[in-house]
Amino acid sequence: MNLPRFIYHSPSSLKECIATLADKKNSAQVLAGGSDLLVRMKLRLEAPGSLVSLADIPTLKDIVYRPGKGLTIGAGVTLSLLASDAVIRERCPALADAAGLVATNQIRTVATIGGNILQNTRCRYYNRSPLWGMAVSPCFKRNGGLCHVVPRGKRCFAVYQGDLAPLLIALNASVKIVSKKGAEEAPLESLYSGDGKSPFNNLAGKVVEGLTIPEGSLNMLSAYRKYRLRGGIDFPLAGVAVALKLDNGLVQDLRLCLTGVASRPFTVQGAGDAAKGKPLGRELAREEGKLAYAAAHPLANLEGDPAARRSMIRIMTEDILASFMV
Ligand SMILES: Cc1cc2nc3c(=O)[nH]c(=O)nc-3n(C[C@H](O)[C@H](O)[C@H](O)COP(=O)(O)OP(=O)(O)OC[C@H]3O[C@@H](n4cnc5c(N)ncnc54)[C@H](O)[C@@H]3O)c2cc1C
Repeated sequence: MNLPRFIYHSPSSLKECIATLADKKNSAQVLAGGSDLLVRMKLRLEAPGSLVSLADIPTLKDIVYRPGKGLTIGAGVTLSLLASDAVIRERCPALADAAGLVATNQIRTVATIGGNILQNTRCRYYNRSPLWGMAVSPCFKRNGGLCHVVPRGKRCFAVYQGDLAPLLIALNASVKIVSKKGAEEAPLESLYSGDGKSPFNNLAGKVVEGLTIPEGSLNMLSAYRKYRLRGGIDFPLAGVAVALKLDNGLVQDLRLCLTGVASRPFTVQGAGDAAKGKPLGRELAREEGKLAYAAAHPLANLEGDPAARRSMIRIMTEDILASFMV
């Protein structure tokens, strides 16, 4: 499929990038690796008049560890680099492992961490060709007034399927966002609106410069598990990330975040409170698995049986906690 026509901008600094976005107003979109955006453009789900590429902004490709402050990763760091970089492997091996589970080798070579956390929500009734789209009534995400998955639904239930955001949220990561008004730091979790149609809170004209995982989280045990149809290429049909801090064998802090089950990366409320002060063991793993299962409500908007995806959430949660016991 061909791309629609657009004007390509390749600023060499963040300042120039912000100015170009401001100049083009709503007609411009940020282009990182393009492995999400260009596919959507080919399907004519989006047709921005201008693309502002981040490829020539060297500062977005830095990976820096500062003792006491944490690990800062530029938004333009590719997933291949994330999976193999020595600093990431040493300081946050779970993130390197999770990056290695995204899509395929070829895609990871161009795909960036910034594009990964900001990838759009997906649905089997939305990520389709224009011809397919003409065969059904337009849903909320196609600017219509209905949802094919939840017939009486009042909003879009398209699913967030990013692999990295759940782990980064469990690790309490923050993002640095730059706009014409300056730079601001915010918890990564605050970017997500929970609405499948417009999954991000107010990012127009803004660029994510990078993410920081605080020092305290780097000392936690953490891991991500993903359920997909094939071992390579596929998006998660369900995914679980856990970050855990132990003190003398007792849980001090536990954070549990899911993907592929809601329109945003979904933090399981109460997971930490339920674990606090308890020993890490089979009983706790089962309890956390049950909590994650109860919180997850996957719908029939992706391939795979929603009930099986929900069961996998429980199984993967238990599996991660069991892996921390050895
Ligand atoms: C076949 C296939 C399989 C895939 N499998 C997976 C998978 O298993 N798991 C997974 O998580 N993803 C998967 N993806 C989706 C995609 O490849 C990844 O999410 C990738 O990391 C997106 O990064 P990118 O740099 O290519 O983003 P782009 O496509 O360039 O951008 C994605 C979105 O983020 C915005 N954006 C990007 N960077 C910034 C920034 N710094 N500031 C502001 N906005 C920004 C863009 O405007 C765009 O809206 C798959 C894609 C394909 C085609």
